[in-house]
Amino acid sequence: QAKTGGKAATALFDRSMTDRASERMELEGDLRWAIDHGQLRLHYQPIVSLESGRIREAEALVRWEHPKRGLIPPAKFIPIAEETGLIIPLGKWVLEEACRQARDWSETTKEGAAMIIGVNLSTRQFQQNDIVDDIAGVLGRSGLPPAHLKLEITESLMALSPDDTVAKLHDLKALGVHLAVDDFGTGYSSMSYLANFPLDTLKIDRSFVQRIGEQPEAEAIIQAVITLAKTLNLCVTSEGVETAEQKEVLRKMGSDRGQGYLFSRPLTAAAFSEMLSDRDAVSSG
Ligand code: C2E
Ligand code: MG
Ligand code: MG
Ligand code: MG
Repeated sequence: QAKTGGKAATALFDRSMTDRASERMELEGDLRWAIDHGQLRLHYQPIVSLESGRIREAEALVRWEHPKRGLIPPAKFIPIAEETGLIIPLGKWVLEEACRQARDWSETTKEGAAMIIGVNLSTRQFQQNDIVDDIAGVLGRSGLPPAHLKLEITESLMALSPDDTVAKLHDLKALGVHLAVDDFGTGYSSMSYLANFPLDTLKIDRSFVQRIGEQPEAEAIIQAVITLAKTLNLCVTSEGVETAEQKEVLRKMGSDRGQGYLFSRPLTAAAFSEMLSDRDAVSSG
């Protein structure tokens, strides 16, 4: 009896394993096609000054408009793209499109003129030998001034060879772009790299921001991170700001910028353009 049950359970397990594996394979094939056939979209989320409320940056966030599955969030396909190497062509497309769009906004709107565009760079992309030349090429083709691009890297870079990583970050900095550490506090446990890396911004992860008002320890960590960042002359952006209370606490603690649903969800390019034009209209009238 027990034996049969075990066998049935195994069969079921095997089937769901193969289902998942074949879904993955299908997604991988579809993603390859999607990159070449214009199914990727960028949404843009404003990053605002907590003092003035002005839009200082926009983070480009990729989505996949799948003909059958609808709009797929990055959590569903970025990991597959990273495993298969498709992150390389995908990442190139994101960079090209984000820089082109940022250049366009800087020319057509006042609020967009000083805005910086943030682009996520995966570790595998960063490891490419020609990544610095690639980025220089994209900047040149788009006409976007390098100081208007901020590359978001993650703490997982610290697991790579430290010397190579530092050298490459300096090469990127030499192009004139800004560098941010994304999801700060969730990854590598040593912070010593902060002093050795040529960084501009720390992005405090949403998991800390979420606990404001609920867990004093989380607030203490945020305050410590902000104090450290200020000592190192880094700009601090807080991610996942959803309530006015969180915003106020973060502003008082010295966070320069905020990003989150309180200000705006990520928007389509068209909706973001409209928001920039509305802001221009308000500030000029
Ligand atoms: P991330 O870079 O940390 O981006 C912020 C994520 O937090 C976005 O999710 C954004 O929609 C979400 N978010 C922003 N404000 C709030 C809030 O107030 N509440 C909540 N609950 N969420 C908020 P999204 O767009 O689903 O992207 C998830 C992750 O996928 C990104 O996290 C990033 O790691 C990755 N990703 C997105 N686009 C790209 C890309 O072009 N290249 C690479 N390599 N990774 C990307
Ligand atoms: Mg990011
Ligand atoms: Mg982030
Ligand atoms: Mg995040």
